[in-house]
Amino acid sequence: MFLDRDGVLNDLVHDPAVGTSESPLRVSDVSLMAGAPAAARALEQAGFILIGVSNQPAAAKGGVSLGQLLAVHLRVSELLTRERVDIAAWRLCLHHPRGVIPSLSRPCTCRKPAPGMLLDAARTLDVELPESWMVGDTDADIAAGRAAGCRTLLIEHEGSFHKRLRGCEPDLRAADLARGASLLMGV
Ligand SMILES: [Mg+2]
Ligand SMILES: [Zn+2]
Repeated sequence: MFLDRDGVLNDLVHDPAVGTSESPLRVSDVSLMAGAPAAARALEQAGFILIGVSNQPAAAKGGVSLGQLLAVHLRVSELLTRERVDIAAWRLCLHHPRGVIPSLSRPCTCRKPAPGMLLDAARTLDVELPESWMVGDTDADIAAGRAAGCRTLLIEHEGSFHKRLRGCEPDLRAADLARGASLLMGV
């Protein structure tokens, strides 16, 4: 099972400058979503291998240093470990096609909605894509899951509404990971 990170496992952070909720960019802003660790543990116990796949373009865009971006990710990872959630592998796309940091600014095959991270992790971990689920809170997550040949679960987090405007077609929808996990374990 492929899991998006922000808005699925950890909380989004409201950014008053743009008026929307976005990925945390400071270690002190990282918190796990209520119910997410227990849901992830339940999925794991039901036999799902959990693989994190996350677009993290903020360093490419110059909003934060790469070091700080990776420190934030480490914090997410630490909090999950503390909650006994075992993410078998993470894939991060650090790129942005129109970023300002040259080394990270280019079109790539990993940035969702492209399926590159899912395909790469599936190869490494020997995961069957048609048997897998992609769980995420944006149109890009669902498009990546479909492109990889997975089934898809959309988490309708109210903070990421602005990233679900193109009308994606997930197989299932749920308000949060806890409710999504219940659906999947009933499937
Ligand atoms: Mg997300
Ligand atoms: Zn990429």
